[in-house]
Amino acid sequence: SVRNVHKEFMKDGEPLTILENINLDIERGEFICFLGPSGSGKSTLLKLIAKRKDLQHGQVIYKENLKTAYVGQHEFSLHNRFPATAYEIVLSAFSAELGLFKRVSKEHKEKALEMLKTLGLEKESHTRLSELSGGQRQRVFIAKALLINPDVLFLDEPTSALDSHFTYDLLKRLKSFQQDGLSILMVSHDLALAQMVSQKILCVSDQSVLALDEHSIEEELAHRHQHIGVHHV
Ligand code: ADP
Ligand code: MG
Repeated sequence: SVRNVHKEFMKDGEPLTILENINLDIERGEFICFLGPSGSGKSTLLKLIAKRKDLQHGQVIYKENLKTAYVGQHEFSLHNRFPATAYEIVLSAFSAELGLFKRVSKEHKEKALEMLKTLGLEKESHTRLSELSGGQRQRVFIAKALLINPDVLFLDEPTSALDSHFTYDLLKRLKSFQQDGLSILMVSHDLALAQMVSQKILCVSDQSVLALDEHSIEEELAHRHQHIGVHHV
């Protein structure tokens, strides 16, 4: 439950309001997509809801004790030159839980390999991250996020670097996790994809958040098709 959330940043010495009086109710098990123009505050809102950023005003309330996993917008590209393998990255999800000096067990290792397999990375398990494609790398970080068995998964533009084949493949996998009870809150820039996977599309713009209804989604998509038509003539 998001209540009266407000966020401002300082810009050129002046406070600039990014989000103003945001109220949202999100149910367990939902797949929610956040859309909106670049710079409108989607990433900021996602971090606030995930409690990865401090609130200035208002509240974000979890009515149950939920385990959350968050994959940030630039996490994928930062690791381009990282020497670790896909398996090592995924396995590192356990280090926070175990502390520095405990060894991962055989069971942990099996779980990491199993998760890589679930995300279609069985053959790439022992490949270095730097040798994987953008789409494979993105799946590695999602596998890592899922390994701790979260109740809620936060994803900030997970498909931004993917071609349509990989995007479709990833969303299909996410959808099946949702069907098993995972709640997903995802920032996307693709309305058609958002409509395909989510129950609710929330548009972030002009400091506020608006739920898009069926009618406005259809209208917007039809409008875009017209534009594509015009460009082709
Ligand atoms: P989006 O994800 O929709 O592109 P963001 O949430 O990243 O938007 O950013 C919204 C606005 O807040 C932008 O104008 C951005 O420059 C500003 N902003 C984001 N993070 C910070 C920060 N840490 N300090 C100052 N301004 C920020
Ligand atoms: Mg963003």
